[in-house]
Amino acid sequence: MKKETRVTHQPKVTMPKGNKPLVDPVYRSVKFTFPDIDSATTPQSRREGFDYSRDSNPTTRQLELLSSELQGRDDAICVSTGMAAAWLSLLANLSAGDRVVFFVECYRPIRVMLRERLPKFGINFSMLSVHDLDGIAEVFAADDTKLLIFEAPTNPMMQVPDIGAIVDLAHKHSVTTVLDNTFGGLHNHGQFKIDFYFHSLTKYASGHGDVMGGVVIADEKQIKQLKPWAVNMGATLDPGAAYLILRGLKTYYLRYRRHSETALTIAQFLHTHPKVERVYYPGLADDPGHSLATDQMDCCGAVLSFDLKADEQETRHFIDALELFATTASIGSTESLVAPAKLYFAQDLSAEEIVLAGISNSTVRFSVGIEHPDDLIGDLEQAFSKVFS
Ligand SMILES: *Cc1c(COP(=O)(O)O)cnc(C)c1O
Repeated sequence: MKKETRVTHQPKVTMPKGNKPLVDPVYRSVKFTFPDIDSATTPQSRREGFDYSRDSNPTTRQLELLSSELQGRDDAICVSTGMAAAWLSLLANLSAGDRVVFFVECYRPIRVMLRERLPKFGINFSMLSVHDLDGIAEVFAADDTKLLIFEAPTNPMMQVPDIGAIVDLAHKHSVTTVLDNTFGGLHNHGQFKIDFYFHSLTKYASGHGDVMGGVVIADEKQIKQLKPWAVNMGATLDPGAAYLILRGLKTYYLRYRRHSETALTIAQFLHTHPKVERVYYPGLADDPGHSLATDQMDCCGAVLSFDLKADEQETRHFIDALELFATTASIGSTESLVAPAKLYFAQDLSAEEIVLAGISNSTVRFSVGIEHPDDLIGDLEQAFSKVFS
């Protein structure tokens, strides 16, 4: 063989029987082969084998199996981002003329999808507050209502929906439920009869802020229906990204617990601070969502919001004065992050909708990292004294 040929037909390293790597290899191959055309085209090999990575890939498949197991469901499909997972869950379940229900308290790009994009395809929406159970019952009863998409807890105000009550209402009216469980995490909310869970794997799952991904998790039958949509849309998760997320998941429980403990410590510090009007963190014993959160989920995660006793300008100065909190959106990464809630998460809302969402000019959102809590509290103290004394 000429060396020009050898570089494209490289030597194979086969592992001796029983000799295994402790860390699984990344299958970067786009294409997979079979010994001959017959075996490539039998139904069984098409079902069980791998052919083209847009359809399926062993590394991405490993992440699908792990995600669905952690969420307590049969199967999953990984896609390129959390938003791709949201689109997949909706497109595969809706037709023109259908109505989708969602809440004003949700992640902004989800509102944009429902209010600005989907109406182009004849899909209608109703936007309510997550706490308006009567309003929810009323829209669920309408003939055209097909699907509910919601979060627990909500972004950025950490409101806790009564998942059990909402899901019961949905079942009564045959409304499909889609839970954006990014904030709750893969270990939470599996006990509810949710039809489709989706997660931004960009957040807690990968954990390190260096890779993007999304996943839709459901029962096998439902994933089977979604799969052709995912493959045809081409929102496939790259196996290299899947590998980084699988690596991140090895420390998922350690990180989620640490995030939650430190977030609670910071929430308690802010709760008693004279320059803080109100803290929104369901881990706090006197938060209105505390008992529901305690029943529904294990730990409350990294995100908390609070209103400063300050005007918009002082709020900006406070955020700029923080040194260990990076000013940016996103959540659930190892570093602590801060964002002015109205400016970053409510630009699409009208004045009345912002009030309904509970966001003010002095609302600050934190995503608490895994740094030592003493250093984070020290950083808060220096920012408070820099701006307010
Ligand atoms: C980040 C996020 C998304 C979207 O995820 P991407 O991976 O950024 O597309 C959806 N929902 C919530 C609650 C999020 O925080």
